[in-house]
Amino acid sequence: ARNINSSQKFIICNADEGDPGAYSDRYLLEKQPLLVLFGMLASAYIVGANSAILYIRAEYPEAINSIQKSISELNSFIATLDFDFKYKIISAQGAYICGEETALINSIEGQRPEVRVRPPFPTEQGLFNKPTVVNNVETLASIYTILNKGGNYYRQIGTEKSKGTKLISLDSSFNTPGIYEVEMGTALQTVLDNCGNGFKHKIKALHIGGPLGGIVPIEKVADLTLDFESFSKQGFLLGHASVVGIPDNFPMINYLQHLFQFASYESCGKCFPCRLGTKRGEELLSNAINKHEKIDKELFKDLLNTLEQGSLCAHGGGIPLPIKNALKYFYDELKVYFIKLT
Ligand code: SF4
Repeated sequence: ARNINSSQKFIICNADEGDPGAYSDRYLLEKQPLLVLFGMLASAYIVGANSAILYIRAEYPEAINSIQKSISELNSFIATLDFDFKYKIISAQGAYICGEETALINSIEGQRPEVRVRPPFPTEQGLFNKPTVVNNVETLASIYTILNKGGNYYRQIGTEKSKGTKLISLDSSFNTPGIYEVEMGTALQTVLDNCGNGFKHKIKALHIGGPLGGIVPIEKVADLTLDFESFSKQGFLLGHASVVGIPDNFPMINYLQHLFQFASYESCGKCFPCRLGTKRGEELLSNAINKHEKIDKELFKDLLNTLEQGSLCAHGGGIPLPIKNALKYFYDELKVYFIKLT
């Protein structure tokens, strides 16, 4: 975006935090608004953008108020700079897919929030076909520390490929739920023990990284460190680092049915594999639960592979991951619903 010659460019802060169990964006917007706004200002200056848009979900009214108040404070400072720049807040209306950057851009333009085919990428042709840089809240909030303390300082924190710290959101299944900042590379068990202080009730798995993240059985926690490469190597996904406990007595089949229902409801409908596949997955699991219809293992495998390989974006492409994790680690519990499941 920086190298493209354009009279108008945009910086967008994607604050449409929609992953159940994730509230790190909310924390930063409410408690550290100036960090986020500074990150946008610095990005805009570097890229040559004159407009910064915060796309904040409407269910976060306190975050919107906090950001609005801080913008008012910052505006007098910005007026002293030789830099034509303004902030704008957009109150997002709740579609999960608007967390995807091109659907988000369509939504701002007043269009149906469908995912766009890339290329062209938003940095070339984004909002109103102008160069647009979309970043998440946590990334923008980290810019101040990097500029203030230097790249070398930041590079020393974390692992080879996952630099810095990560905000993790622990849900109410922990004794001390909340939001915690943890250095990348920390053992997951240490994080759960030191931050969460154990569980209120027996948990059989953790769903980490939102609905499209991995389902981590409790016995695998010891093999993981809190960084992208460790999660990827073990077949999971760190994502937004929300941690949701799945109770020991909650049937995994119902959990998977709920995931497919969520994916189907929130699908933007642009591509067939996701539009039809998530609905079909929901039907198969619902019928297995309610009508005792067995699911053909090969058919189900085909469905997951089609979703994974044929979907246009990470929504349809990502939903097979937790389903596959559950089939791998909770085989004994799920096999009664399948035929030919060996
Ligand atoms: S995968 Fe789903 S959400 Fe993504 S473009 Fe296709 S239909 Fe839309």
